[in-house]
Amino acid sequence: MSKCIFCKIANGQMPAHIRYEDDEVVAFDDINPKAPFHVLIVPKKHLKNLNDTAKIDQDLLGHLLLIAQKVAEEAKIADNGYKIVINNGKESGQLVDHLHLHLLGGKLLARMAV
Ligand code: AMP
Ligand code: ZN
Repeated sequence: MSKCIFCKIANGQMPAHIRYEDDEVVAFDDINPKAPFHVLIVPKKHLKNLNDTAKIDQDLLGHLLLIAQKVAEEAKIADNGYKIVINNGKESGQLVDHLHLHLLGGKLLARMAV
């Protein structure tokens, strides 16, 4: 059984505040939000980070961005703007080794370090 926390959230073994779910993707609130609105968009397929993706994941990667757009619109933060961050590897600060997009919004993020 996977020890990965995002796999556990994706398969319902671990609780989270789910904002969106389909066969390929789950989006849920970050447990330690860095902005008033902070959601993680996560593929159900376990991929460590972008280094672990290939041509076969092209549709999935596009889908993740479109779901980010949809979640932002539903949260009514799309017009004011939002930031998408993907940390990849230890020097980026990636803590959870399962690919995820951070969707951040709800305040001025122009000077937020990326
Ligand atoms: P990263 O540094 O890009 O790997 O980001 C991992 C993110 O996952 C952090 O913002 C954490 O606050 C968040 N996180 C860790 N565990 C959970 C959890 N159980 N539910 C929701 N978010 C989590
Ligand atoms: Zn995983």
